[in-house]
Amino acid sequence: MTKYKLEYIWLDGYTPVPNLRGKTQIKEFAEFPTLEQLPLWGFDGSSTNQAEGRSSDCVLKPVALYPDPARTNGILVMCEVMMPDGVTPHESNSRATILDDEDAWFGFEQEYFFYKDGRPLGFPESGYPAPQGPYYTGVGYKNVGDVARQIVEEHLDLCLAAGINHEGINAEVAKGQWEFQIFGKGSKKAADQIWMARYLLLRLTEKYGIDIEFHCKPLGDTDWNGSGMHCNFSTKYMREVGGKAYFEALMAQFDKNLMDHIAVYGPDNDKRLTGKHETAPWNKFSYGVADRGASIRVPHSFVKNDYKGYLEDRRPNSQGDPYQIASQVLKTISQVSIAAVSAAA
Ligand code: ADP
Ligand code: MN
Ligand code: MN
Ligand code: MN
Repeated sequence: MTKYKLEYIWLDGYTPVPNLRGKTQIKEFAEFPTLEQLPLWGFDGSSTNQAEGRSSDCVLKPVALYPDPARTNGILVMCEVMMPDGVTPHESNSRATILDDEDAWFGFEQEYFFYKDGRPLGFPESGYPAPQGPYYTGVGYKNVGDVARQIVEEHLDLCLAAGINHEGINAEVAKGQWEFQIFGKGSKKAADQIWMARYLLLRLTEKYGIDIEFHCKPLGDTDWNGSGMHCNFSTKYMREVGGKAYFEALMAQFDKNLMDHIAVYGPDNDKRLTGKHETAPWNKFSYGVADRGASIRVPHSFVKNDYKGYLEDRRPNSQGDPYQIASQVLKTISQVSIAAVSAAA
């Protein structure tokens, strides 16, 4: 038998942005356990905005697990928060009831800032560094400093070793700003991995005395980019059948559902989606081929391939909840009738 360190990880009840929480229990197994072998566990919900002190028990239900490369015999256990009965989802549980489809593929581009001493890493104590320009995909100390890349590389290795489908990294437009991409098949699979990658980044940077700022516009109304979490998506139908008529019907439905999308695309998005800094205004839907100033960017390859492939919704922000984002995308897609579109074509 081996003693495994199980880190049960969950989202707390803070709004509008939940925090990641985690605690460890040691359990013995003959070999690396399956999800079904992991027991339910509990925590004090009165300390996480999830219960009153009088009746404080909440239940943790394991829903995904990953080897924890930073710990000997460690396992990262993504959990949903349940009511004391163990079966009713807690109201803060944004995962339990979302739409899912394993043939729907999601690629999230998570942007964020490194922060130290209350300002972006590399910013001087007062004022600003040289303006944006050389930082995006930049190299060299004056562009990326001396520690950011080390963290980013370590994070990449941790994600890969945990079996997270990490797809790449790049330095972003603002100084101290970076991005990683995660791809998953199915909304839960993709979103679980984003939350776990966020967890690993937050935990990794503790030892550097550096924070991760996920706010979408930490530098406010200045000439510094905000942070997004672009959502690239495709369904089986989009990849295999597609077509211009279906695409146009889909875009009409996205337009109609504008406010439903904005509602779950992360807080303070009006401060980021201004129409400047490669964004579209938050209150007007648009799409365009290769247009980084549109709500949805249509890749060249999509048009060349008879309107088949994936689309990029550029509006979700860096603090958005990937469970809710993916689910809303699937909801809008589900409202477009394939039969009606093909009959009209
Ligand atoms: P950019 O910065 O140019 O917008 P990235 O390379 O950062 O693009 O991100 C593109 C994302 O698109 C990746 O996360 C990738 O996984 C995702 N992607 C590629 N093909 C598909 C597809 N068929 N369905 C969904 N997502 C996809
Ligand atoms: Mn990108
Ligand atoms: Mn980016
Ligand atoms: Mn993008």
